[in-house]
Amino acid sequence: MYKEPRIESGHGVCPKLRDLPGRVLAVTMDVPWQVFRRLTPWTPDHVHMVATMDIETVEAAERALPPCDVVVGVGGGSCADMAKYVAWKRGCRMVLVPSIISVDAPLTNTIAVRVDKKVKYIGDIYPEELIVDYDLIQRAPKELNRAGACDIASIHTGLFDWKLAHEKAGERYDAGIADEARACLLELDRNADEVYNVTPKGIDTVIDLFRREVEFCARFGNSRPEEGSEHIVAYAIEHLTRRHFIHGDIVGLGIFLMTRLQENEHDWAVDLMKRMGLRYTCPDASRDEIRETLTGLKQFKEDAGLFFSIVDTQPITSAFVEDAMRAL
Ligand SMILES: [Zn+2]
Repeated sequence: MYKEPRIESGHGVCPKLRDLPGRVLAVTMDVPWQVFRRLTPWTPDHVHMVATMDIETVEAAERALPPCDVVVGVGGGSCADMAKYVAWKRGCRMVLVPSIISVDAPLTNTIAVRVDKKVKYIGDIYPEELIVDYDLIQRAPKELNRAGACDIASIHTGLFDWKLAHEKAGERYDAGIADEARACLLELDRNADEVYNVTPKGIDTVIDLFRREVEFCARFGNSRPEEGSEHIVAYAIEHLTRRHFIHGDIVGLGIFLMTRLQENEHDWAVDLMKRMGLRYTCPDASRDEIRETLTGLKQFKEDAGLFFSIVDTQPITSAFVEDAMRAL
């Protein structure tokens, strides 16, 4: 069941962790832990360094860790996920301290693990305590902090596909939730330069929009309001290349391409991504890889059994591919 998080944000709020009662287990990684320690000298009862999120490693690590009253996750997505795993398994208190806002893991209830090299979501635990320290987050690379906004910008393409799936395939639709999602997108638009500059306002905006999105998706029952064909592009390029990308890069690419296929305010969406610094040209993929992803998108979607979207109703012709590649 959904639980509202308590979010404490500000400059230098990390030292509050020293007051946590009981045995404290910190779950982190080298880089965020070093940055964190420079800002907040603190020695919890035990520190665990997350290696990988392979399910076997995660299970073995949890079994080997000492008992604790509180688990504190300091870092990015994997650190949040590992802390969520420990708290879910043990039923103990959990505090999350994001060192970066590149993904929404500190707000979601599921835990991303890798099974046979594929991401799988397990567990069910809504984070209830978040400490958002601007000084910590601002020390992470700006382009990674900006990347997190992709999962809010994806509302633009997601809403289009959701409505289409409702009209053409009879999927359940909720106009009230669609309006709430649209309001989040507009809020992001109003704060695009704050997101770009990773200001305290920008950080608070992204965290608050993640919170709202997680809440209305929980109320609706799935991620339909924010996940559409742009995520199919993201999954397809990872599948094709067998490489891992920054989520914001490939979802940004998906928004670029799918707003063209949807004929859905493409210029507005691209302008928004530019103003936020989303790297929608996906610099870590070659142009041939992007072209091949687009050409094979419908087949990938069908093989993977993914949800209904513009990919089902609008053919991706070679003329469309070449036009899109020229524009990118
Ligand atoms: Zn996403």
